[in-house]
Amino acid sequence: MAKRGNSIIKGIEINDIIAVLNKAYADEWLAYYQYFIEAKVIKGIMKDAAIAELQQHATDELRHANMVADRILQLGGTPLLHPKEWFTHTNCGYEEPKNFDVVSILEDSIKGEQCAISIYSNLAEMTRDKDIVTYDIVSEILADEVEHEEDLQALHDDISDFVTDLKKNLN
Ligand code: FE
Ligand code: FE
Ligand code: MG
Repeated sequence: MAKRGNSIIKGIEINDIIAVLNKAYADEWLAYYQYFIEAKVIKGIMKDAAIAELQQHATDELRHANMVADRILQLGGTPLLHPKEWFTHTNCGYEEPKNFDVVSILEDSIKGEQCAISIYSNLAEMTRDKDIVTYDIVSEILADEVEHEEDLQALHDDISDFVTDLKKNLN
């Protein structure tokens, strides 16, 4: 545990920061697996573009899990040790892919990113001016999640437009 590093935290309980970071940690692992499996099962038109995006996001979510775990340890906490705890601690849950169509998969993922944006935005509010190091980490992750939502929404809209045009031309 970083003694001097943690002594600069003011106006917030370190245990409360550890608790919310562990919830975010659970979210990141579930998001990682959701992207991992979506990239495997996805079907349909323009799926290759979607697979590239989903795989890139899986890599990012795993990197986020790393960043959050390292911060929990610096604070003197322990990252969740058992995967079953991911489900008892998650904020955003897990969206099991039920329909493997590209558009449905992208919609499931967009929901997850919107939840992640709300969570990290709350964490940034909570730590601002109190725990600068955690604030920096959650702000950096927040920027990634905003980019994720935008990437998925842009792809979703391109594919929807393409399908609409295709249907028009076939008539
Ligand atoms: Fe993430
Ligand atoms: Fe994300
Ligand atoms: Mg992306």
